[in-house]
Amino acid sequence: MEKEKYLVVNAGSSSLKVSLYEMPDQEELANVYVEKIGSKDCFWTLKMNGEKIKKSAPLKDHSEAVEKILQELVDYKLIADISDIMGVGHRVLHGGEFYSESVKIDKDVLKNIESIIDLGPLHLPPAINVIKYMQSIMKEDIPQVAVFDTAFHQTMPKVNYLYPVPYEWYEKYGVRKYGFHGTSYRYITKTMEEKLGKENVNLIVCHIGSGASIAAIKDSKCLNTTMGLTPLAGLMMGTRSGDIDPSILEFICKKTDMSVGEVTSALNKKSGLKGVSGENDFRDVEELMGKGDEKAILAFEMIKNTIVKFISEYYVELDGDVDAIVFTAGAGENDIDLRREVMKKLKPLGIILDEQANDSVAKFRANKSGIISDSTSKVEVYVEPTDEESVILMDTYTIAKNA
Ligand code: AMP
Repeated sequence: MEKEKYLVVNAGSSSLKVSLYEMPDQEELANVYVEKIGSKDCFWTLKMNGEKIKKSAPLKDHSEAVEKILQELVDYKLIADISDIMGVGHRVLHGGEFYSESVKIDKDVLKNIESIIDLGPLHLPPAINVIKYMQSIMKEDIPQVAVFDTAFHQTMPKVNYLYPVPYEWYEKYGVRKYGFHGTSYRYITKTMEEKLGKENVNLIVCHIGSGASIAAIKDSKCLNTTMGLTPLAGLMMGTRSGDIDPSILEFICKKTDMSVGEVTSALNKKSGLKGVSGENDFRDVEELMGKGDEKAILAFEMIKNTIVKFISEYYVELDGDVDAIVFTAGAGENDIDLRREVMKKLKPLGIILDEQANDSVAKFRANKSGIISDSTSKVEVYVEPTDEESVILMDTYTIAKNA
């Protein structure tokens, strides 16, 4: 079969990652990750053939960043020019209620995404910016595909996605729980179907990265999840508060001269582990804990408790009929201490840790995936690395081949 090149594009609020793949082998030829877009400290890292090349230059916005990235791919002879690319997959944070699966982007899709910018004010504008730039330089018959973080969660029942607020807020403004990390949950669900040899699986998946959420999955579909209208809700995270009393917002506005936007930004960027301990990375928090730092110990205990709380809630919501609990993403895959402490608290549910197995699974240990529960455990507990990019790539490839 003839080899073809595809791009996977992931636009963050001030970052942009573009990966170049060769299909159908799914071989990653290179990726370029630009950080601090819009700042004079903007820099990018190009990875290819095990090599890492770092460069810097001020790039004023995401379309300048993507233009630079494509130039790098040409300069390093990874592509001759843009006509080498047979499809582009874009990670899009929010699909509102419009999308429960990935779609080929056309005028209507772009219009729909633009109509919900308020639901993802930091992430959707850069994604739209990049999509429009790519459309302007690529032929119309080369598919650009949107893969939404929210899509997997569209199966949630109303009883779980509605907030107990005036109903017209939902009807007029779309105020409801949407959920995020959906692409990761889709990947893990498919992996677990294969591992467990079942067509439909019931899971509790803990995606614990710098952003963190948990999903209850019934018959391979989302039943409930912890993030909400935005990714601020649910678990305590690296820099996000997770669920708090909403009155804190007005209270702090009155006590300080901060605006609603500034307090919301503090809840997103200066809260969670960072707010309590001063550090947002689990590794740094645990290093401080090793030195007896009380705030770090407190922050770890708090985050552990929110994870335990939602696993227990979802265990009951799934009527105890759970095929597996799965830990994934940066901390879920690698933080042996966090997993151990969470699992110790789950003992009343009959969930029992195999300490040795847990110690052996992390990217810097013998295994990257595996079962970390004891044979007597009522539910098997797995560690499984997630791979959102492969989902975006495969959706794009499938849509391109069926276009
Ligand atoms: P992600 O957002 O999935 O890339 O996860 C990134 C986060 O995972 C980091 O901010 C860390 O808090 C956490 N993490 C990554 N590696 C480790 C590790 N070896 N031990 C503990 N936490 C880790």
